Amino acid sequence: MWDKRWRDQIWPSLAEPWDVIIIGGGITGAGIFREAARLGLRTLLVDASDFASGTSSRSSKLVHGGFRYLKNAQIKLCLESVRERERLLKEGRGLINQLGFLLASYRGDSIPVWVFGAGLMIYDLLALKWNHRYYDAFDIKVLCPTIKEDKLLGGFRYFDAQTDDARLVLRLIQEGVQYGACALNYARVIGLLRRSNGQVCGIELQDEAPGGNFRCMEVRAEVVINATGAWADKLRQQIGGRERLRKLRGSHLVFSPSRLPISRAISFLHPQDRRPVFIIPWEGVSIIGTTDVDHRLDILEDPAISQQEVNYLLSAVRSIFPSLELQEKDIQCTYSGIRPVVDTGKEDPSKESREHILWQEQGLLTITGGKLTTFRLMAHTALQAVARRLPGRIKLEGQQRMLDLTPGEETINVDLSRAARLRLLGRFGAQAQSLVAAAHPEDLLPVGNTATLWAELRWAARSEGVIHLDDLLLRRVRLGLLLPEGGQNEMERIRHTTQLELGWDDDHWKMEEQAYTRLWKHSYSLS
Ligand code: FAD
Repeated sequence: MWDKRWRDQIWPSLAEPWDVIIIGGGITGAGIFREAARLGLRTLLVDASDFASGTSSRSSKLVHGGFRYLKNAQIKLCLESVRERERLLKEGRGLINQLGFLLASYRGDSIPVWVFGAGLMIYDLLALKWNHRYYDAFDIKVLCPTIKEDKLLGGFRYFDAQTDDARLVLRLIQEGVQYGACALNYARVIGLLRRSNGQVCGIELQDEAPGGNFRCMEVRAEVVINATGAWADKLRQQIGGRERLRKLRGSHLVFSPSRLPISRAISFLHPQDRRPVFIIPWEGVSIIGTTDVDHRLDILEDPAISQQEVNYLLSAVRSIFPSLELQEKDIQCTYSGIRPVVDTGKEDPSKESREHILWQEQGLLTITGGKLTTFRLMAHTALQAVARRLPGRIKLEGQQRMLDLTPGEETINVDLSRAARLRLLGRFGAQAQSLVAAAHPEDLLPVGNTATLWAELRWAARSEGVIHLDDLLLRRVRLGLLLPEGGQNEMERIRHTTQLELGWDDDHWKMEEQAYTRLWKHSYSLS
């Protein structure tokens, strides 16, 4: 879909006026993009960096109702999220999967076990299903043998869902492109165009891909949507908007399953501050998160975990799995994302609302906050808010699919397990068959102990708009999170599989590999 020449072919055609320009290619922008494209609007999405390179590849990867929001009585947010989760489970087979949780309760916990039970009852009622159950201490130990036994009273098993966040974004963008819209990564909005009455009517766009020589272009549209997440204030300030967002950093630790083996997610209260934390099995690794701290550093720099956050998360995991004696050296990698919330000055960052926010200022629509899970609702809210400016063209129906129907597993006609075929269909949607057709015989094997096939790397390098090596290893596939040292041990074979597809000569490859290693060390490791 995005082959080597796609960028240069597209650039000159950007000057034509658009119905909608979306700034930001995270989940918020991607959700709006797909919906606008499906409605037949001439739609352009641009991202200053790679698609999903912001918070949308650094979440906890849960498609969830947000059980803990019930504690803050955010029933509406919880109801909406639970309903969206149920739809995503149905429509996103292979990409969104059910995930079992254990919620362990200990003597002395600030929240008694019956409160969890009542909460889970409401949680299930909101989803219109009964999907939780109480287990006593003995059964909890059977379900999770390494869990701390001392003072264990029992706990609940309940269900939420999980996904590959970056692939969900990619899938939405690819579907939008298939509906005829245009999406460009490494294209930064450096200014907003305004009519004589001050209303925003377009963007000044700068090409930030290598070879683009920072060429600039003015691009006009009826509607300009600011979906730049934690960066949203920066664009708003250009038209006189005052800073309104509080940037909260959430970080995670990733462990290999050999050091932290879990078969289902564990949810518990951090002994230090009683905040809920999760340990989640994901793609063969175990992730623990998250923190929630004010991010006071420049958001133009890639976020990274602090030593305090490492200590906080490590002490959480040690408290629930003391027998594993986990140490800092067991941490395979880390990652951090920035959550934009409206700043109401609450002392405890976790008390700030997670609901999405919409502002209309001088014709610029800003939508930010919210969750990965609720991208469809956010897309509808944004498009409804601008419907007046595109008369008769925005007709949204709640029952429309949020992801296109994919072909059945039997259409992936190669010797792979059913689960592997479903996985490809979920991640690559309509492109899965082409991916398999393009694979060399040796590509249909997994990379190391992961479920990722070499064929995914070849396909992504060939046709998924990869500009830098981190686009490939951190977002098109997630080897940077799944393999030790970000995949250094597999680098020769990664190069062998993808270099030609990417069209990079040896010097270019070397430069990319060095840049990737630097980035990984800065933002994805302990250093
Ligand atoms: P982003 O993903 O940050 O995207 C914004 C994009 O705008 C970026 O790609 C950036 O490059 C681009 N941009 C910025 N400036 C410009 C410019 N000038 N020109 C062009 N492009 C620009 N939600 C869930 O449902 N489940 C979870 O498990 C979950 N876990 C989370 C864990 C953490 C630690 C955090 C912080 C959030 C979590 N969330 C979760 C919330 C969810 O991840 C975010 O709400 C969501 O990813 C935000 O997406 P976004 O598209 O608004 O922003």
